Amino acid sequence: MLSGKAALVTGSTSGIGLGIARTLAADGADILLNGFGDPALIDELLAEFKSEYRVKAAYSPADMSKPPDVAAMVAQAARELGGVDILVNNAGIQHVAPVEDFPIDKWDAVIAINLSAAFHAIRAALPHMKARNWGRIINTASTHGLVASANKAAYVAAKHGVVGFTKVVALEVAELGIRANAICPGFVLTPLVQKQIDERAVREKISVETARTELLREKQPSLEFATPEQIGAAALFLCSQAAAQIRGIALPVDGGWTAQ
Ligand code: NAD
Repeated sequence: MLSGKAALVTGSTSGIGLGIARTLAADGADILLNGFGDPALIDELLAEFKSEYRVKAAYSPADMSKPPDVAAMVAQAARELGGVDILVNNAGIQHVAPVEDFPIDKWDAVIAINLSAAFHAIRAALPHMKARNWGRIINTASTHGLVASANKAAYVAAKHGVVGFTKVVALEVAELGIRANAICPGFVLTPLVQKQIDERAVREKISVETARTELLREKQPSLEFATPEQIGAAALFLCSQAAAQIRGIALPVDGGWTAQ
């Protein structure tokens, strides 16, 4: 389905983004990876994409908190992969603290990376998509784009912003062959969530195993983590012709979290 399409996935050196990039590449899309990480690991990933999926693979070290970096990353995708057909805004960070103790620099970083980067990337990518009248924009929001949790002020604000922004973009391109949607994962066991589990284990003086179970019991009725592969499958579905009339949605993949 995606053979010959160029996909840019931000924050794809780890976790959900890597899961999405692998799923799109397995379907034939050329990939521009982005995110931080050990250069040796990134070289391994590039080699994996080229040999396993037989697609073009490139890497951008762009820092999503820096608007000029975001624009340069989109330009690189157009230059090295021949276009920007699929844009997955996925890079994200978390910081957990009550509002009155929330460090101002953490607030600014979460809003910049989790929300503003999607604006800068979509702004730069849309002309490329419009040139071919074909585009798929997928924003990794979160259940926290739909409901809140205490102590996650910046993250919840950013993710609600992403859901709203996705709707605006979907409406602006509604008559074109370009679609914008958001995916709202519940807990996925990635480094971002493992950090919260480890902090909880220390805070509550419990084992990491117990902290993991408690985290799920508190929010995710299935008591199972969603997987990066499942989020990738949702992204692939949103790219498909079957999803042609799905526009501006926020799709939960959350084990029932937001059904409560
Ligand atoms: P992760 O920590 O495994 O991956 C985050 C990725 O973003 C990494 O590749 C990292 O290098 C990259 N990144 C971080 N800061 C960056 C920056 N300034 N510039 C460029 N890249 C940067 O986390 P994850 O859990 O895979 O999270 C991916 C997305 O999914 C995030 O937007 C997160 O909010 C969202 N999400 C995660 C969960 C979950 O349970 N893990 C649930 C809902 C939503």
